[in-house]
Amino acid sequence: MMMGTMVSVEIVSDSPGIIAGIMEKVWSEAERLERVFSRYIPESEISLINREAGHRPVPINDEMMEVLSRAEDISRITDGAFDISVGPLMKKWGFFPEREGQLPSEAELAEVITRVGWQAIELNRSERTVHLLKPGMEIDLGALAKGYIVDKLAALLLEEGIENALVNAGGDIYCLGEYPGGRSWRIGMEHPRDEDEILTVLELKNRAVATSGDYRNYFIRSRLRYSHIIDPHTGRPAQSKVVEVSVMAPDCLTADGLATAIFVMGADKGIDLLRKIDDVDGVIVTKEAGEVIMHFSEN
Ligand code: AMP
Ligand code: MG
Repeated sequence: MMMGTMVSVEIVSDSPGIIAGIMEKVWSEAERLERVFSRYIPESEISLINREAGHRPVPINDEMMEVLSRAEDISRITDGAFDISVGPLMKKWGFFPEREGQLPSEAELAEVITRVGWQAIELNRSERTVHLLKPGMEIDLGALAKGYIVDKLAALLLEEGIENALVNAGGDIYCLGEYPGGRSWRIGMEHPRDEDEILTVLELKNRAVATSGDYRNYFIRSRLRYSHIIDPHTGRPAQSKVVEVSVMAPDCLTADGLATAIFVMGADKGIDLLRKIDDVDGVIVTKEAGEVIMHFSEN
């Protein structure tokens, strides 16, 4: 378990004797990265950054700078649909630290939203610091840190001489090389309302896929579903009709971040975005009038 999700690694190798040693390195790398990025760990670098919100810039390492820079890029190209400063909203809606779920009042939401906004995350690349400009701001890397960690684990496997493997952190997946027999890795996309059913199969080779959906982390009140992906412009769980989106990209951080963003943006804007970015494709699933519909990007 890492960052609240199950992580699995499958390695294809002719010399099984080396696997145990490699796996030990993989798990210690995963734990190290979790201690940097997890908001559940009070001593993590992310927790430290959040504690200094409104006070002072915090020195960060290269990995944190990379993740925060990529988050900023994704916020920019998605017109703020992607925003890691949703931390206070995650708390207010009861998705963090427990997954209990609660409906905030209008007044509460109006207050919380004043502490949200990616433009108030100030990255200083020469000093290598980050400063959350408003008191009470909180960043939450749940939308892309798992993807980053998957990329790091896949890179580690490659360094260790493994050419074919699958790294999966709760559906954020990197497919290194091939499946035995010389074919691509095949990833089934789960049906958003029936976990025994597969919607479609994606084939990947040296490529990542990440999926966002409304069917794992949500609560229901008065027959309405509130899921853990928040539209930063309204402060409310996204209501875009998207129920599931899988994005394929050269790296898993990109796939992870874009999947979350497209969940907020909706199918039309999502397809437009996928069209604009090189080497990125996806499947966007909407539920309209009770019907589940798949929207595919060109490739
Ligand atoms: P994912 O499962 O990758 O779609 O990420 C969902 C997680 O990202 C949530 O549990 C929050 O921690 C965080 N999050 C929620 N809404 C947003 C948003 N609009 N932009 C960035 N991160 C978000
Ligand atoms: Mg994501």
